Amino acid sequence: MNSELRQAEHLTFNETRLLRRHGRAAVAIMAMHTLLCLLYYRMGQFSIDLELGAILLSGVWLSMLGYVLLLASGVTLRFHDPSLSLPLIIFCVGVFTVSGYYVDEFRLSVVTLFFAILLLVSFQLSGKVMVGVAMLSSAAYAGMLWLAMDDRGVQLSLSVEALQWLVFTMISISFAITGGSINRLKMDLAEKNRELGKGLERVREMAIRDDLTGLFNRRHLLEILERQKALADRKRVPFSVCYVDLDHFKQINDRFGHEWGDRVLRRFSQVVLSDMRDGDYFGRLGGEEFLLILPQSGEQGALQVAERLRKRWSEEAFGQEGGPSTVSLSVGVAAFRDKESTEDVLNRADRGLYKAKSSGRNQSRVA
Ligand code: GH3
Ligand code: MG
Ligand code: MG
Repeated sequence: MNSELRQAEHLTFNETRLLRRHGRAAVAIMAMHTLLCLLYYRMGQFSIDLELGAILLSGVWLSMLGYVLLLASGVTLRFHDPSLSLPLIIFCVGVFTVSGYYVDEFRLSVVTLFFAILLLVSFQLSGKVMVGVAMLSSAAYAGMLWLAMDDRGVQLSLSVEALQWLVFTMISISFAITGGSINRLKMDLAEKNRELGKGLERVREMAIRDDLTGLFNRRHLLEILERQKALADRKRVPFSVCYVDLDHFKQINDRFGHEWGDRVLRRFSQVVLSDMRDGDYFGRLGGEEFLLILPQSGEQGALQVAERLRKRWSEEAFGQEGGPSTVSLSVGVAAFRDKESTEDVLNRADRGLYKAKSSGRNQSRVA
């Protein structure tokens, strides 16, 4: 059951994995853009001098390295925008504008990869922010055209350039609108994912807990026993069990009603939990029978724990509330023996319990 639940947990998002994927995609797009620029440079279409080109290229890749390291470090997980998509897209507007400035004939083709970055960040940014980004990139494109004409005295065909700018702006806005829907879809999915996570946690709790007392149930106790046995077999860590049974419990139901029986069971659970050592396990096997699993304890230690519990519980009285004056308990104790099965150790504890019952109850015994 628990392994099935663990499998189901893989259905939920892993934020860190998504961030790493986001970082890798941004690097890949930027790498393709760099390759394209280098290609145009080789073809003599990228009119930049070598030194400035090298400085710009190093600046871009140092920034990308910083970005990827930041994402990988996990510090951004605390941010409102863990993927740093807004700074990334603003940085890219800058990079693509500068590279577009240096190519004339193939300007639009150099900035095409900008749309890939727009698509990438649309998974993270809201529709409104995406429209803002589209406006910003359109303005930057227009500014870049104006500078290219002004600074470098480039002969531009104004109508062709204006048309290309219009195409660029329209595609950017289309991406912004589509991105808004993608983002909304992602938000819905994230919300569903959170609910699924909570649901899984509840199912997990229900699978290992007893309804009445909230203690571990029989199934989970048996799993813990198997784990303890494995530890004892491999690493020789000893453990013992105390099989606890409330005495004459049926009479409580008969005399005071089932409600009172339930109340006594719940009170008993609270008393044991409040008195227990860290690292010990306690649960309800069923009815008025409980099991304490005591790692690192031998038979004598477990007997002492059982006796302390028996005395502590004998101080608990219900008479003033209209219930039974006191309820006693009997305990069977067994220490795990080398290589025996968990059933064997439980059976021996049960035989100890039988001994305690047949010797007059209200006592702890080993088999
Ligand atoms: P002994 O001292 O020999 O253990 O006698 P006993 O009466 O405690 O044991 P027996 O097995 O005869 O009866 C156990 C009773 O526990 C019978 C059953 O009705 C009651 N019981 C089992 N589960 C619950 C429960 O969840 N709530 C309540 N109120 N009673 C329960
Ligand atoms: Mg019983
Ligand atoms: Mg009983």
